[in-house]
Amino acid sequence: MVFRATILSLYPEMFPGPLGVSLAGEGLKTGLWSLESRQIREHGLGRHRAVDDTPAGGGPGMVIRCDVLAAALDAAVKADDARPRLLMSPRGQPLRQARVRELAAGPGAIIICGRFEGVDQRVIEARGLEEVSIGDYVLSGGEIAAMVLLDACVRLIPGVMGKDHSGDEESFEGGLLEYPHYTRPRDWEGHSIPDVLTGGNHAEIARWRRAEAERITHERRPDLLKG
Ligand code: SAH
Repeated sequence: MVFRATILSLYPEMFPGPLGVSLAGEGLKTGLWSLESRQIREHGLGRHRAVDDTPAGGGPGMVIRCDVLAAALDAAVKADDARPRLLMSPRGQPLRQARVRELAAGPGAIIICGRFEGVDQRVIEARGLEEVSIGDYVLSGGEIAAMVLLDACVRLIPGVMGKDHSGDEESFEGGLLEYPHYTRPRDWEGHSIPDVLTGGNHAEIARWRRAEAERITHERRPDLLKG
């Protein structure tokens, strides 16, 4: 069973986009994961396939209709589909590595990309959508947010990143940001690599990296240490 992603969007042609290159793209080609992107507008109303309407109560912008989005969703997924139904939304729970790990270990995801002012609240409740945010800023649509979420998940799928990369030591995995990296040349513009890293003492290197990770996390993201 591979990780299956189904996208619902008004711009399905944006996919796979950046997910079609490099490791995610190779994984897609070799069947380590799959991606299907569907056009919400196929379920639009009337001759113009309308998907949106003016907000109840007034105000600017347009809102994606609940009947149209529900029809698109119901056509895309069977009732017994176990995959979580995610709605990309700045009002959602902020995406974290722990949730990414859970999603990557599961059967995949159904991801709805909003546009305009967002979607009618009733479809969120009636179809049990989980709202997910990629950060405290507003994008013009959910597509790039969906790509961010998928990129984070897909790189964790076994085989996508190659054998020697477990991802265990990366930022956020131990509740810490990662230690700094160095590579050749040993001396560059008067700056050298910290001696401990070229000394060959693996226990010392591990201690140094741990201490650096703690120092950097303390400086930049003290909020991570509280958790
Ligand atoms: N009026 C909304 C913003 C709509 S932005 C509000 O103030 O909350 C249009 C669409 O872009 C949203 O429906 C959502 O799908 C997507 N989007 C925007 N910012 C996002 C974010 N930070 N995380 C995830 N999706 C986002």
